[in-house]
Amino acid sequence: MSRHQYDLIQCMKQTGPVAGLVCQQCDGRCPVCDSYVKPTTKVTICSDCSFGHLSHKCIMCSNFLGDNNENGTPAFYCLECVRQDLDREGCPRVINVGSLKADMIVRRKKA
Ligand SMILES: [Zn+2]
Ligand SMILES: [Zn+2]
Ligand SMILES: [Zn+2]
Repeated sequence: MSRHQYDLIQCMKQTGPVAGLVCQQCDGRCPVCDSYVKPTTKVTICSDCSFGHLSHKCIMCSNFLGDNNENGTPAFYCLECVRQDLDREGCPRVINVGSLKADMIVRRKKA
């Protein structure tokens, strides 16, 4: 089952030269289909997502990657998605991380 059946929305703007970074939790995961198999093509993101505070966040779960992105690693599309040209569809950064994640953040702050 794909997580895209839920309320996740991706940016899908035209990508630029900037690599998309993910946190250690999302390392090795394809941003389109969540596969860990055969990471093939480096993910690039659009100019909006590579600018300002967004450039310090995991493109998949919005985890903070540190002021110098020291906790970030480049994301890769898996071989299957590259074969289907899904790597050319646009910026894969997740915009809406859903209510579940927001709940988690609130709970953590209270604890
Ligand atoms: Zn992440
Ligand atoms: Zn994939
Ligand atoms: Zn974008």
